[in-house]
Amino acid sequence: MIVLGHQNPDCDSLCSAIGLASLFNKMGKSATPALQGEPNPEALFLLEQSGLPQPEIRTEVAGEEIFIVDYSDWGQGTADMKKATILGIVDHHKLGDITTSTPLECWIWPVGCSATIVYNMYKFNNQVPDAPVAKMMMGAIISDTVNFQGPTCTDMDVVAAKELAEIAGVDDIESFAAAQFEAKSDIKAESAVDLILRDQKVFEMAGEKLAIGQLELTSLETAFSKKDDMLAEMVKLQAEKDYHSTIVLLTDINKLDTTALIISKDANKIAKALNSTVTDHMFELPGVVSRKKQIIPFLQVAFEA
Ligand code: MG
Ligand code: MG
Ligand code: MG
Repeated sequence: MIVLGHQNPDCDSLCSAIGLASLFNKMGKSATPALQGEPNPEALFLLEQSGLPQPEIRTEVAGEEIFIVDYSDWGQGTADMKKATILGIVDHHKLGDITTSTPLECWIWPVGCSATIVYNMYKFNNQVPDAPVAKMMMGAIISDTVNFQGPTCTDMDVVAAKELAEIAGVDDIESFAAAQFEAKSDIKAESAVDLILRDQKVFEMAGEKLAIGQLELTSLETAFSKKDDMLAEMVKLQAEKDYHSTIVLLTDINKLDTTALIISKDANKIAKALNSTVTDHMFELPGVVSRKKQIIPFLQVAFEA
């Protein structure tokens, strides 16, 4: 079985794939974690900290048995995923459009991170993750909940992260989180295209495609210095893929605010749905840090109402 994270992998889709594959192996079911692309710098930091090898990259799964983590949409899977057997889903997003022809094991909880659910699957099965795996899963929770400050964070995430830290031998979660966020904020050497695609997800709303990426950074200064390059690349991507909108959310994880860059067929519609106004391909979203909770639901209302 392959445990497969989503496209443009983030920490959670890496760490939860590793965590779940390791659980299955402990229970005598052979499983391999896999990614659909190169890990981002924050995920590489976690691999380095835990000493685990980078999982293989898989973009073809036809004929395989797979368990998917951190998504439930065909659009975030491989192009051939309908030709695989989906044994199960672990996710913490709104329910996507995946259906199966046979029964499946489905763990979808409204918590801050898929790794929180995976940790509870360990408990359900009376298992304990190995220390390096626990460290990865703790890192995923720190990442997805913005160090427990984001609006998606629940008590279950806090409890899971604390217990995982103990298993992993991490005494000081705060300083671990600070180092992790430094790693993800080091974008000086990154190209504009890589930044746009780093955490991009494509959402379909009323037949239109909206590509929305997010960079979570300890300061927005470097990102702003790359703004013109990013907008130029967003224009290209928008034309190539025929998106309605291409958006990059620049989220300041210290101030817990977001500035959005936008190229759109109707930028005012997007900004208005989020109670903002566009100036020079930018709009401000004070207090916004969560794409899934503070952005997508409002865009969906604007498009589908
Ligand atoms: Mg994710
Ligand atoms: Mg996640
Ligand atoms: Mg995220």
